[in-house]
Amino acid sequence: MTEKLYDGDAYCRTFAAHVLKCEPKEDCWLVVLDRTAFYPEGGGQPSDTGVLNLVNVLDVQERGDEIIHTTDRPLPVGSAVTGGVNWARRFRLMQQHTGEHIVSGVAHRLFGVDNVGFHMSERFLTVDWNGRLEADQLRLIERLANEAVYRNVPVKTEYPSPEKLEALSYRSKKKLTGAVRIVTVEGYDVCACCGTHVARTGEIGAVKLLGWQNYKGGTRITMACGAQAMEDYGEKQENVSAVSALLSAKPEEIASAAERLLQENADLKRSLSEARAVVLEQKAAGFPENSGNLCVFEDDLSPDDLRRYVLLLSKRCGGTAGAFSGEEGLWRYALACADGDVRPFCKRMNAAFQGRGGGSAELAQGSLKGGSEEIRSFFQKTGNT
Ligand SMILES: [Zn+2]
Repeated sequence: MTEKLYDGDAYCRTFAAHVLKCEPKEDCWLVVLDRTAFYPEGGGQPSDTGVLNLVNVLDVQERGDEIIHTTDRPLPVGSAVTGGVNWARRFRLMQQHTGEHIVSGVAHRLFGVDNVGFHMSERFLTVDWNGRLEADQLRLIERLANEAVYRNVPVKTEYPSPEKLEALSYRSKKKLTGAVRIVTVEGYDVCACCGTHVARTGEIGAVKLLGWQNYKGGTRITMACGAQAMEDYGEKQENVSAVSALLSAKPEEIASAAERLLQENADLKRSLSEARAVVLEQKAAGFPENSGNLCVFEDDLSPDDLRRYVLLLSKRCGGTAGAFSGEEGLWRYALACADGDVRPFCKRMNAAFQGRGGGSAELAQGSLKGGSEEIRSFFQKTGNT
């Protein structure tokens, strides 16, 4: 049996212990101590990492009444070790975990939703609630959670007697066997939890809801606390500064500057399209009228331009017109017939040039393989029907 030092004192970061077991497993070793401050993965909280003497602790799991440390090297059974928990990492997890208690406690009290899923990583955490919450409700939860931080209230952990537990109202109340650990954030939350928490809410630093979405009929929120919230803020600030410099706009005005830029871009696209239409009309007018089938090759025409151009050409020539763009041997095409159905012609052309594509009676589009001279000759020889 391993004595759980983290259970009574979440701030225990170095400790002395003895090695009870050390067994190889794949490239690692599984080490059991008589006591440990390493928190094993559980209750949504990732396991601690750190060192035992000079050996790295990579993962920690609870199996029955033992805590198993996965290490990268062996330790002699019976030897004394000094353990050191990676404190920067653990403290961040404690900030997050305690922040989550407050947020879920406030959401439960105000809107009656229960936490039905919880995942914590070093970057942020997600919480799933079994009810839909709206943006203004979530903003209220965030504001109240931060008030709890400013008020710096104590966070207490206890194992109440069965009678007291029965009478107690708390989140995650289930029929649990054995002693139930109750974590209370004074005035904000009472919850059964085995994780590690800060001693007073001020240590959380800040609570920030980063996003929310509808999830399985409820709400999934993403949040960050303390050091993580600051990191997130830093990242966002860097991005805002970069965009602000690119748009030559004040940071608080980048959204309207981006909107203006998009509008300008749309206007330019429209003007360009109008100018191209004029050019294509002039080009089409350069061909003799009612001269029969016509086939034209142009560099860099977009599918839209190909369509527009071939409709002009078919009206001009009075027969079937084809507009081709691409490179010698591999062409995108548009076909049109001013009077009649272009599809039989399209079918024959596809068959002759390994083509793919089709369309309506008036207009067809696709691609084919072939030299421009062979295609021209095909247009001269082939009838419209
Ligand atoms: Zn907890």
